[in-house]
Amino acid sequence: MEIGGLQKLTLIDYPRKIACTVFLTGCNFLCPWCYAREFVLPEEIKKQPKISEKEFFQFLKERKGLLEGVVLCGGEPTIHHKLPTFIKKIKKMNYLVKLDTNGSNPKMMGKLISEKLIDYVAMDVKLPKERYSQVFSKNAKIKDIEESIKILKKGKVDYEFRTTIVPTIHKKEDIIKIVRWIKPAKRYFLQNFRPEKTIDPFFETIKPYPESYLLEIQKIIAPFFEACQVR
Ligand code: SF4
Repeated sequence: MEIGGLQKLTLIDYPRKIACTVFLTGCNFLCPWCYAREFVLPEEIKKQPKISEKEFFQFLKERKGLLEGVVLCGGEPTIHHKLPTFIKKIKKMNYLVKLDTNGSNPKMMGKLISEKLIDYVAMDVKLPKERYSQVFSKNAKIKDIEESIKILKKGKVDYEFRTTIVPTIHKKEDIIKIVRWIKPAKRYFLQNFRPEKTIDPFFETIKPYPESYLLEIQKIIAPFFEACQVR
């Protein structure tokens, strides 16, 4: 596995757990507003110092008893066929594992859930169903995204859906359409966009929505979820 980055401590990436975050390189989507381009764009990935698996597992060994979980994000972790083997090694050390995913690989997600390799999944629902092909052309197969939503809603693993809300991409109506698609569900989070080193530099120039706009949407959609918050 190519590890492009390691955040040694996070109190916010894994709900109610003290964790570290591992950034796996490569992604099958190219969200223009993505601010993880150093883990997505091949020319940027090349420039990143890498962390070997050996170093990573040594780090986990040293943090036993201090950290409770490992967050796998990227990039898109599920594009790596060696992911189950990598997670098995983490689970053997008795860590909880959270997967952050764009939902494009339901087969891999299903396997990880049925083999009890993951304890929590955060899945991005980026757009209303009918707009995926418009933004991602061939990269996002809507039937795969739908399948991932269905798998999570079966409740065999703890989960959340989330959307990063980007001015010029999302309006209130888009979020309502997403909610109609995924409801009812356990948790749904509205995340405000951060204009930082984005894949398309245009997005570095735009202002995030004021929090009050997101709170206004949250009030409308909250009844469809057990938990729904702006963060
Ligand atoms: S936002 Fe996520 S899915 Fe989109 S390009 Fe970045 S890492 Fe990939």
